[in-house]
Amino acid sequence: MGVPGRGKVVILGAGFGGVHVAQELARLLPEPYDAEIILVDRKNYFVFTPMLTEVVGGEVAPQHIVSSIRKLSPRVTFVEGRVDGVDVANKRVTLALGDEATGTPSGTQTIDADHLVFALGSTTNYHGIAGVEAHSLNIKDLSDAAAIHNKAVALLERADAEPDPDKRKQLLTVVVAGGGFSGVETMAALNGLLRESSKRYRHVNESDIRTVLAHPGEHLLTEIGPSLGDYAQQKLEESGVEVRLKTDVAGAGPDYVELKGGERIPTSLLVWTAGVKPSPVIGVIDLQRGKHGGIVTERTCAVAGHPGLWALGDCAEVPEPDQQKTYAPTAQNATREGSLVARNIVRVMHGEQPVPFNYHPIGQLALVGRHSGVAKLSGMTFSGVLAWAMWRGVYLAKEPRLGKRLRVALDWTLDFFTGLDIAALPGKRSGA
Ligand SMILES: Cc1cc2nc3c(=O)[nH]c(=O)nc-3n(C[C@H](O)[C@H](O)[C@H](O)COP(=O)(O)OP(=O)(O)OC[C@H]3O[C@@H](n4cnc5c(N)ncnc54)[C@H](O)[C@@H]3O)c2cc1C
Repeated sequence: MGVPGRGKVVILGAGFGGVHVAQELARLLPEPYDAEIILVDRKNYFVFTPMLTEVVGGEVAPQHIVSSIRKLSPRVTFVEGRVDGVDVANKRVTLALGDEATGTPSGTQTIDADHLVFALGSTTNYHGIAGVEAHSLNIKDLSDAAAIHNKAVALLERADAEPDPDKRKQLLTVVVAGGGFSGVETMAALNGLLRESSKRYRHVNESDIRTVLAHPGEHLLTEIGPSLGDYAQQKLEESGVEVRLKTDVAGAGPDYVELKGGERIPTSLLVWTAGVKPSPVIGVIDLQRGKHGGIVTERTCAVAGHPGLWALGDCAEVPEPDQQKTYAPTAQNATREGSLVARNIVRVMHGEQPVPFNYHPIGQLALVGRHSGVAKLSGMTFSGVLAWAMWRGVYLAKEPRLGKRLRVALDWTLDFFTGLDIAALPGKRSGA
C-alpha cells in the first residue's frame, strides 16, 4: 500500500491513541521510504491504565503494567520530550528535552511534520474546588498509583503505633471522590488492601477502618447502567464501604473532606477521581476547543481548516454520528480512533477522502471487590466472580506485550497464595 516519499508523520503522545496510530501506520507503511513515523512522549513507556488500581491494591508490581515504547516497532522513531508549543500553521513542534528531576541536562528540539497528530490525553480536573488539588492524590499515572498504595500502607503503619483510638480512626479513614470506573475500582482496591492487610497489624482493628465513596450521581457507574451500578454499590457496601450518592465534595484540608451541606469527614487520604480535562498544553495551542476543552475535530478526526492536522482520544472532541455529543474519554475510543487516524492519513496520502469514526463500545467491565466485578458485554450483563474473572481475562489479553502479560498473570497467581503486598513501593513515598 506504500507510496514512495509520503513525508513525515509526527504523533504527539504515546498513550492508547498515539501508540495505535503508530502501530497501524507501521503496518500500512512497512518500508522506510513510505513515510517517516515519529512518536513523541515526555516519558519512554506506555502505561496500561486499567491496571493502575491493581498497583494501588498491591496485586500487581508497577513495572508489570508498563511497556517500553522503543520496542514498539522498528518503523517507529521515538523521541522523548515534553511538547511545549506547536506552530500549527507550519506544523512545527517544539519539545523540551531533559528532566530536572533526574538531573538530565535540558535542551530543546523542533520537529516539522507533514501530518501532525495530537494524542496528548488528559489530566485531572479539580473543578476549582477549594483545597482539593493540594490535599488529594489522583490516579492518572504509575507514580500516582504507587503514591496511593504507599500512603495507605504508611497510614496502616502509623495507626499501628497510635495509642489514641480516635486518631487511629482518623488515620484509617479514606475518602474516594467520584463513582465512575476509576473511582469505584480505586475504592475497591484500597478497601481490600486496608481490610485484608489490617490483620497483619497488632494494634489495628478492622473496625478502625472507614472507607467512603462520595459520588454526585444517583447511581454508581452511570456509564454501565443503573442495575449494574446498584450491584456495584451493594458489593462495595457488603465489603464495608460507605457509598454516599448524590454527594458533592465542597472542599478539603490536610485532615478533612468537606461535603456540600457542611458535613466534614476527618480523613488522612482523599483520592480524587471526579473529572478529567485535556492535557494542559492543548490550552496553549491555537486551535478551536470544544465544551470539554479538547481540540474540535471533524468526524474523521481531522482538524477542520488545517489539512494534515489530526486529534484523537482524551485531548480531542470527536463528534458522535448524531453530532449531538462527542465520544467519551476512554481507552476503547482512543485505540479505535488511533487506528482510524492512521488509515485516514494513508488515504489522504493516496489522494482519497478520509472516513468518519463510527464506534459503539462492545462492553464495559469494572472491579468492585477482591473477587467481584460487574460487566456489560454485547448487551448482556454479568456480575460477581464471573465478571471479575472476565475482567482479568479481557484486560490480561489487552496488555500490549506478552512478557508483561505473563508477569501480571504470575503476580495474580502468587497473590492467591501469599496475599496482597503491603511493602511500600519504590519511588516517592507519600507520608502519613
Ligand atoms: C485509573 C484509570 C483506569 C482506567 N480504566 C479504563 C478502562 O478500564 N477502560 C477504558 O476504556 N478506559 C479506561 N481509562 C481511561 C483511559 O486510560 C483513557 O481514556 C486513555 O488513556 C486515553 O488515551 P489517550 O491516548 O487519549 O491518552 P493517554 O493514554 O493518557 O496518553 C497521552 C500521552 O500523552 C503524553 N503527554 C501528555 N502531555 C504531554 C506533553 N506536554 N508532552 C509530551 N507528552 C505528553 C502522556 O505522557 C501520555 O503518554 C482509565 C483511566 C484511568 C486513569
